[in-house]
Amino acid sequence: MDASFVLLSGDGIGPEIVSQAKRVLQLVSDKFGHKFRFDEHLIGGIAIDETGDPLPQATIDACRASQAVLLGAVGGPKWDDPSAKTRPEAGLLRIRKELQLFANLRPIRPFAELLDASPLKREVVEGTDILFYRELTGGIYFGPSSCEDLPGGQQRATSTMVYETFEIERIFRLAAEAARSRRGKLTMVDKANVLEVSRLWRRVCGRLASSEYCDLDYDVVLVDAMAMHLISRPSSFDVVVTSNLFGDILTDEASMLPGSLGMLPSASVGANGPGLFEPIHGSAPDIAGKGIANPLATILAAAMMLRHSVGLQQEADAVEAAVQAVLAAGHRTSDLARRGEKAIGTVEMTEHVLAALSRQ
Ligand code: NAD
Repeated sequence: MDASFVLLSGDGIGPEIVSQAKRVLQLVSDKFGHKFRFDEHLIGGIAIDETGDPLPQATIDACRASQAVLLGAVGGPKWDDPSAKTRPEAGLLRIRKELQLFANLRPIRPFAELLDASPLKREVVEGTDILFYRELTGGIYFGPSSCEDLPGGQQRATSTMVYETFEIERIFRLAAEAARSRRGKLTMVDKANVLEVSRLWRRVCGRLASSEYCDLDYDVVLVDAMAMHLISRPSSFDVVVTSNLFGDILTDEASMLPGSLGMLPSASVGANGPGLFEPIHGSAPDIAGKGIANPLATILAAAMMLRHSVGLQQEADAVEAAVQAVLAAGHRTSDLARRGEKAIGTVEMTEHVLAALSRQ
């Protein structure tokens, strides 16, 4: 397969981890006989420094022409001035909009070797393998909002949660297709006992579940109950689909289950066109340049990219298996190492992944 990927390293540890994920992708292309092309472009603070814009037009054009985009992270104290004309994060929001990425995918699958790093008991977390589909471009973050002055120095603020049928249908179908290729279980999370918008979600999803996807084991859970189930019985879920606000909160809650930010990838995808794949952690300015950042979340984001954007399932499985093998062999970066365990650096960790991948 010929595929072209855009690499957006961004700021802080971004260049250190994206360069390592690139090495893994290069090995995948050699090992499996593909031809991958990589184009590197600017985003975030570095783009502001070099062009004055956190998302230069050249970056947008290159992303649109690619099959997928791998992003490191953006931001850092250098660009934190609240009175600045623009900020690195603006680049991130705009790239999602430009590529019409309406679904955010976040897999939560703690590695067996790291279960003791989870804040929950091993027996609760064991066996957890959830894939969240969070709606990303609608709902309360994008509905009409206002703040008005009232007499007596009071103010009234309004944020509005708005969804239309097509927005619910398109993310539901993506999630349902994913459930079909996994364990066949799909959970929709809403607040239909209170919110009119949630009642629309329930009708639309229920209709699709009983017509197009009646082969799936489909259920609905209220968001407040879901917040509890995620920490009492996380292993009972497979694919979870929900709206923007609920997904934002639930995916952050769930990201605590595996015990380290440095292990978690995510993806944002649309109906057609390139998706955006990234680690969920930020640019970690406190460790940038020290060579100690954990590259595994970005390597796992690259695996997601292979699976979800160019359909290379076997290659994605191979990368994930290599990461698993490295952890099983006891290799740890400093964020994963427990007291007394030796911590290795970014490059050394990647070398172990490359070696494990070569051995398969
Ligand atoms: P952060 O995720 O960057 O760091 C939180 C803590 O986790 C830090 O102690 C950091 O050293 C550690 N950490 C993060 N990734 C790691 C890795 N791969 N290996 C080892 N340790 C790691 O969050 P923050 O400190 O709140 O934010 C720093 C900057 O990143 C801010 O400017 C923020 O706006 C930005 N940010 C960007 C994104 C993104 O680009 N998607 C996401 C979150 C935060």
